[in-house]
Amino acid sequence: MNNQLPYQLLASLEGVKGYNENTFKAVHEATDRVTSIRINPAKVATIDLLEYETTPVPWCDNGFYLMERPVFTLNPFIHAGGFYVQEASSMFIWNILNSLQLPDNLKVLDLCAAPGGKSTLLSTYFKNGVVVCNEVIQSRAAILVENTVKWGNDNTVVTNNDPKQFANCKELFDVIILDAPCSGSGMFRKDNAAIEEWSTDNVYHCSQRQERILNDILPALKSGGILVYSTCSYSKEEDEDIIDYIIENNELTSIKIHCKDDWNIVETNADKTNGFGYRFFPDKVKGEGFFVAVFKKGTEELSSSDYLVAGNKKADVSKAEVAVLNSFISIPEGYEFIKNRESILALPSKHITFLQFIINNLYIKRIGIELGIIKGKDFIPSHHLALSKLSDSYKKRIEVDEETALNFQRKADIKVNGEKGWNLICYKNLPLGWIKVLPNRINNYYPSEWRIIKL
Ligand code: SAM
Repeated sequence: MNNQLPYQLLASLEGVKGYNENTFKAVHEATDRVTSIRINPAKVATIDLLEYETTPVPWCDNGFYLMERPVFTLNPFIHAGGFYVQEASSMFIWNILNSLQLPDNLKVLDLCAAPGGKSTLLSTYFKNGVVVCNEVIQSRAAILVENTVKWGNDNTVVTNNDPKQFANCKELFDVIILDAPCSGSGMFRKDNAAIEEWSTDNVYHCSQRQERILNDILPALKSGGILVYSTCSYSKEEDEDIIDYIIENNELTSIKIHCKDDWNIVETNADKTNGFGYRFFPDKVKGEGFFVAVFKKGTEELSSSDYLVAGNKKADVSKAEVAVLNSFISIPEGYEFIKNRESILALPSKHITFLQFIINNLYIKRIGIELGIIKGKDFIPSHHLALSKLSDSYKKRIEVDEETALNFQRKADIKVNGEKGWNLICYKNLPLGWIKVLPNRINNYYPSEWRIIKL
């Protein structure tokens, strides 16, 4: 590593449970890196399909370590949401949800969500619920849209709001994940720039901001609901001291999380309240630096929310438009159609009341599955439809080899034999996107902004 670890950080960690200066420094000086991915079980049934040499991440069902770091860009699956490259420690969120036996149909807010590592994990876990993935910084919300579209599930919404703007969402969410902006010391191994940017002043500013965000967002958590607070900082000011802040200022209690001994995750206690925290030191676990703590609001039991089916909601998609849509693809029962400008969106009916509330109160970047647009009697399908389960019933599919798949994802011209009209390009049965076969040419409808640029 080119940069020295900040001595102020090392000094501040003296006496923190689990911290060992020698092994901590040694692991930062070592050159070997840990690479891990989480597969999307809705698209990749088994890890074998990816043909990587792997071992499981012990605390996450769909997480795997890779023996070597491949050039991910050259794997068509990554662009079609088959897997996500995620640092292993942060996959521990899966173990938290699992060990609390949270039902899969809850309403969840992932407040600081870009680029979407936790959001895609939550989308998989809460497959029958709704995950509102929020990112305050507009430019970062775009990558969150991309990653959630590629993941393909119908249960995510992307919003672009400041935490303050959740004031209208009182007691709305069963679970809030606050993966807070932090001073980033846990990323020092992966990111040299993080070392240069680190300062004790910044640790202080981050802790103040974390408290502000908590004040803004905790009213949106239901009574009986769960708060998961995490950082990638080693600093106590952003970790255990925030546990104290949460417990001392709110009706929240700390929850102990089950960890196996051989995971080497360090359970700590906050100084004033004894609340539980979980520290991931890279010299102890196979992953980067991470901290997480879990809380319950109030004493009520968390019960699955009521899922009202909107009986008489006025649809703003006309019968004629639905007929054009149906002539293109048959969408299964359980969806309501709404229009956003020209696009037709499919929203899960069982969550329609909740989604309508979100639409009315937050700034939406995307919601449900975008199906496509109607032009006269024609239907122009969207990329999101191709990457979602809703394209399962579409019959005109063309299976291609890896080279053609990558060329398609580069938005290059490809040569395939397909029936006239819209065809789904598939690689190992996984849909990658649309082409339109015309009498004398093939149009590639891969989104320009997401095309592979690297050769
Ligand atoms: N949860 C993400 C994941 O797993 O991919 C990583 C989130 S990152 C640790 C923290 C996020 O908080 C960043 O995307 C950042 O833009 C956002 N953020 C920065 N300032 C914020 C603020 N004042 N309020 C809320 N979010 C903020």
